[in-house]
Amino acid sequence: MSTGVELVLRGGVVLTLDALGTRARAVAVHGGVVVALDEAALELAPTAREVVDLEGGALLPGFADGHVHPLWGGVELAGPQVGEASSVQEVLDVVRRFATDHPDLPWITGGPYDPTLAPEGLFDAAWLDAAVPDRPVVLQSSDHHCAWVNTAALRVAGIDERTPDPPAARLPRRPDGTPLGTLVEWAAMDLVRRHVPTVTVPDKVTGLGRATALLAGAGVTWAQEAALYPEDVATYLRAEQAGRLSVRVDIALRAEPGDWPDQRATFAAARAAAASSAMVSARTVKFFADGVIEAGTAALLEPYADAPHTCGLPVWSTDELAAAAAAFDADGFHLHIHAIGDAGIRAALDAVAHVEAVNGPRDRRPVLAHLQLVDPADIGRFAALGVVANVQPLWAQPDPVQRDLTAPRLGPRRSALQYPFASLVASGAVLSMGSDWPVSSHRPLDGLAVAVTRQTPEPDPPGGWLPLERLPVATALSAYTAGGAYQSFEEASRGTVALGKRADLVWLDGDPTRRPASDWPELVVRRTWLGGRVPHSA
Ligand SMILES: [Zn+2]
Repeated sequence: MSTGVELVLRGGVVLTLDALGTRARAVAVHGGVVVALDEAALELAPTAREVVDLEGGALLPGFADGHVHPLWGGVELAGPQVGEASSVQEVLDVVRRFATDHPDLPWITGGPYDPTLAPEGLFDAAWLDAAVPDRPVVLQSSDHHCAWVNTAALRVAGIDERTPDPPAARLPRRPDGTPLGTLVEWAAMDLVRRHVPTVTVPDKVTGLGRATALLAGAGVTWAQEAALYPEDVATYLRAEQAGRLSVRVDIALRAEPGDWPDQRATFAAARAAAASSAMVSARTVKFFADGVIEAGTAALLEPYADAPHTCGLPVWSTDELAAAAAAFDADGFHLHIHAIGDAGIRAALDAVAHVEAVNGPRDRRPVLAHLQLVDPADIGRFAALGVVANVQPLWAQPDPVQRDLTAPRLGPRRSALQYPFASLVASGAVLSMGSDWPVSSHRPLDGLAVAVTRQTPEPDPPGGWLPLERLPVATALSAYTAGGAYQSFEEASRGTVALGKRADLVWLDGDPTRRPASDWPELVVRRTWLGGRVPHSA
């Protein structure tokens, strides 16, 4: 039996991603922790129990996905997969085939469909009826703020021309007043979703296994599960006990307007249930300040350019959001707020300021996620309030969603203010990143490429979209690693490759700092280490 360390990795470059940009030639791991770097690690190789040759590739700290939905996404993987469909007809073909293959399923639920496939994101129930007339169908849009249902689903939910629009939501209608079949925002989707048979715990555990394997395969070692109900903390713990979890996870529990005073005790109990877990924590509370711009539901300071009668749909009143944030902060939870429009972001910043005013200053690192349209007057408030800016870099490109749905709603002046990553960094804000999968690609390298280039895969436009907001390579890589560790107060144990930190590592087949960022999506994730384990090896 060798007395040497467990593992030495050598034969490539180690990008520690520390503040100095240190490059090392090797890493030694023992007990799931980094115990030596560079020359000292190479010296341990002869007696190591395992030596891995990196074959000229690069070793980085594992990616931290600071906003992702493994449970929803994992469950969605069991339904018809319409994410690649490039026309309504293709979506219908996939759904029809799935229905034929699963004749006993009482409901067909799936996604994520591309909302740009129909003008203004408006999808007709009658189209789905042509594919599946006999059973209810619910498809989730890729932004998860809309659903497209068939007539059978509308009928089961009792939605007809007399049904009013629910609060902070819409039921788009035909000229005769009958509901079209697109449900906009949560309260509208819930009218149907409450009738969908609940997904069983074993099915959820299976979904978590698939979802976290997908994340580990992309080099992710930690994830912020961005919105769950407290009962699913137990689902995560089941998945962990069954050995199905391939990444560490912190769960954000979703607070609801009106209900939040009653949720406090349940959330605290859910957090306590996960307290002794090695891989799962539930230390965060999630708020939706608003919706999304492409559906016209993000809260804007000035009216929508294409709908001058509306500024969107804030989910909370400003005062109630502030009060709820202060209550959960007093309970010791971290705050994670979905904030997309400039009014939603301002309300979220105001809530954070209120929390500090009533509960006093402390190191609390509240997270605002998405940050699409930040009013320039609010940029400096992130650093001043200690707010972590969590962004989804893949969205910062002029793709069809941006071109066809978003830009017409914002008009040119506000369109040019979107996703101000570099401005936030220059202001001193801490940046973390995430995928928001299954809303968009789960692969960090896809998002990182856009953070640096601000281009579509084509690549378009030539100098990048709003090029002043492009990020330097080191800043982008650090945001997807150290930024996520900071977000969850774990910078002492992960986020960089350093002595004493966990060996949560990813091996890429090439060095991203030596290649154009536009090529990063082609890099292969050869292996992912999670402490002592290897959840992914290709
Ligand atoms: Zn999300």
